[in-house]
Amino acid sequence: MSGAQRRTGRRPAELRVSAIGDRIHFARTEHVNWVIYAGPDGVTLVDSGYAGQRRLLEASLDTVGVGPADVAAVLVTHGHADHLGGAAWLATEFGTPVHAHPLELPNVRRDVLEQAGTGSVLRNAWRPGVAAWAFAIVPLLDGRATLGVPSVTAPPMRDDRLDVPGRPRMRLIDGHTSGHAVFEFDGDGVLAVGDALVTRHRTSPLLGPHLLPSLFHHDAERARTTVGAIGSSTARVVLPGHGEAWIGPADAAAEAALSAGAPW
Ligand SMILES: [Zn+2]
Repeated sequence: MSGAQRRTGRRPAELRVSAIGDRIHFARTEHVNWVIYAGPDGVTLVDSGYAGQRRLLEASLDTVGVGPADVAAVLVTHGHADHLGGAAWLATEFGTPVHAHPLELPNVRRDVLEQAGTGSVLRNAWRPGVAAWAFAIVPLLDGRATLGVPSVTAPPMRDDRLDVPGRPRMRLIDGHTSGHAVFEFDGDGVLAVGDALVTRHRTSPLLGPHLLPSLFHHDAERARTTVGAIGSSTARVVLPGHGEAWIGPADAAAEAALSAGAPW
């Protein structure tokens, strides 16, 4: 553990933005997280919250001293409603390029929907936390549970890195969806993992790195198989889509997620 994580802002109350080194900022809300890279070469956003969290997204950018028009690119780990909302808004309002792994493009466009549906949520509503989670997220969907980003493309590449600010590397860690990817800012020692692993979720009694309940995965077995690949990263900080930052080596996070598995 290191002292690299310090809090830079806390506004509004339901938003926390932590600086992970000089250029990476981890925005946490009760329901989902996103990552802001802000460096001399520009601003890249990784994931973007629910459609109904636009105010929080704007506040998070404001906390790090940039505005929505400054975002040069949005990288989407996967095409779920809790990661896409701000991307759709930025693409529409500012023409911001939105990128995802080539295998994830149909999900981000919402041509396919590898996402827990109402029926499967209802069938699991008896499990602790599920009904409360479902009630909490409905207003955040803003009536747009299937909102997509039609303009999404595969990221531009230069050498073997993405040609966006921060020059991260992209890696497929699929199972949660067919094209779920993680993004490594290796110059900053940070790996943004989306929902490949989480450290806390309202529907799970587990804390620390683990897999989301199988309800949320397109292919739960595949998600369990691929999470170990996170361990090949040399990152010293792992930022999940849900829960606290993991301040420690990526291989330890992967190992913890593998041994914890999914709660159900
Ligand atoms: Zn998520």
